[in-house]
Amino acid sequence: MFESLSDRLSGVFDKLRGRGALSEDDVRSALREVRVALLEADVALPVARDFVDKVTERAVGQEVVRSVTPGQMVVKIVNDALVDMLGAETADLHLDANPPAVIMMVGLQGSGKTTTSAKLAKRLMERERKKVLMASLDVARPAAQEQLAVLGRQVGVETLPIVAGQSPVQICERALQAAKLQGFDILLLDTAGRLHVDDQLMAEMKAVAAASRPVETLLVVDSLTGQDAVNVAKGFAGHVDLSGVILTRMDGDARGGAALSMRAVTGKPIKFAGTGEGMDALEAFHPSRVAGRILG
Ligand code: GDP
Repeated sequence: MFESLSDRLSGVFDKLRGRGALSEDDVRSALREVRVALLEADVALPVARDFVDKVTERAVGQEVVRSVTPGQMVVKIVNDALVDMLGAETADLHLDANPPAVIMMVGLQGSGKTTTSAKLAKRLMERERKKVLMASLDVARPAAQEQLAVLGRQVGVETLPIVAGQSPVQICERALQAAKLQGFDILLLDTAGRLHVDDQLMAEMKAVAAASRPVETLLVVDSLTGQDAVNVAKGFAGHVDLSGVILTRMDGDARGGAALSMRAVTGKPIKFAGTGEGMDALEAFHPSRVAGRILG
């Protein structure tokens, strides 16, 4: 995760740290290199620009150049700005609701939505002792409902029995009723994906949201798609009331552009990161830890 960005930044900062005194120009030119590193990591241009402007203002305005360890001070300022950019606080799930609290998972096909649904259900069951029911609303892909059922059996989470011929809203209503009658705390809805954000998909998401009134609507996006991931998030956020983002395949993401731009561009917090194919490979997204990982 973030290896190539981390390497680039440590190259820049090693040069600064190795010197006793720094001029304002030294700081400015190091921060220009930071900007290039962010752009190479596929961070959205306005985000990289704002970031570097903010850091430059803090670094040059402060006592950095007169301090005994100016290099370290610059790194600290960059670290704090990274944490700000990533969203400062860990974004928890808000599950206070009359049971069942509905979590709606949305995203494009292949983003890792079904896998992530099962991972999240497992996590809520194990860590928060919640009784979770999962239901797949994907009637477009015949194998989708069965795939969720298989994963459910694997992680020990119940899935709604499959009834052929129902619409997503009908499945959703049946799931709500089953969850209420059987005392489930959480109903996790795995909605249909498509190859692109399109009107039909958005209409379906709205209808499902209206029928289920979710307390969390989580967009699952593939971090490896970089700036596309951020554009997909913008597309969804324009139509559905997203409460957060889950970035998958962070285990293979050496660049980190999606993770770094997501909050600034969409205004939505990253709540979890998918870090592998296994059912335990889902981590809460902690901005300060992520910043620490990037800066090494
Ligand atoms: P969906 O079409 O969005 O429901 O996608 P799937 O859940 O079927 O996932 C597609 C593939 O991505 C599967 O092979 C998953 O195992 C894999 N996958 C999902 N999340 C991650 C992740 O965080 N890391 C890795 N390495 N693979 C993942």
